[in-house]
Amino acid sequence: MSSIADNIGSVTRRIQKATLAAGRAPDSVHLLAVSKTRPAEDLRAAYRAGQRAFGENYLQEALDKIDALADLPDLDWHFIGPIQSNKTRPIAEAFAWVHSVDRLKIARRLSEQRPADQPPLNVCLQVNIDNEDSKAGCRLAELAELAAGVGALPGLSLRGLMVIPDPDQPEDQLRARFRAMADALAELRRTQPEAGPLDTLSMGMSGDLEAAIAEGATWVRVGTALFGARPPKAPPR
Ligand SMILES: *Cc1c(COP(=O)(O)O)cnc(C)c1O
Repeated sequence: MSSIADNIGSVTRRIQKATLAAGRAPDSVHLLAVSKTRPAEDLRAAYRAGQRAFGENYLQEALDKIDALADLPDLDWHFIGPIQSNKTRPIAEAFAWVHSVDRLKIARRLSEQRPADQPPLNVCLQVNIDNEDSKAGCRLAELAELAAGVGALPGLSLRGLMVIPDPDQPEDQLRARFRAMADALAELRRTQPEAGPLDTLSMGMSGDLEAAIAEGATWVRVGTALFGARPPKAPPR
């Protein structure tokens, strides 16, 4: 079995190769280590290999790890999972980024609950690009209205968009989904420049990060390729 440090090396090389192939600067894509279901020791190993940004999906599990790793001063915590409206306060307090905002009610609560002594919470709007009924995310048709609402909230900084396309589609269709996200972000920058920095596309995972980078991803969210396969069932929240 390869070590977490080795895996970070090979994923970093994949990212470099993909940015080069796309004619983009190597530092224009950041690696978010998706550490859901992994023990704190695995994150510590990644930290020793230079990794600082970690993505978590399950709030209680994340808070336990944030606590266990409190001795590491410069960690950058990203929340990337579904958000229940009664669980927004700890997210607003403990995270630097939230990638999975998909409705205004949640955004308002995060903004109100963001501590005044912290910088605005960086948020991405999650888009349900395949219009799958069971999936989180707003529809593309609702995006402009949601961005306007979120962009006006003082406790949040609207950084951009996040997507998890259906992985079971041909490469060219997947690429088209990522391209549609890049187009949607460019459209928001043009029509709502005051809404926020709008500099972020959170897209691409272990299996499709090259396609996402080719279409403009700035954060790739990688779990399996760094930490190995996850247990089949999610832990209790
Ligand atoms: C689990 C997860 C990932 C990582 O997926 P891998 O295929 O393991 O790289 C990325 N983004 C989100 C939102 C996830 O839930």
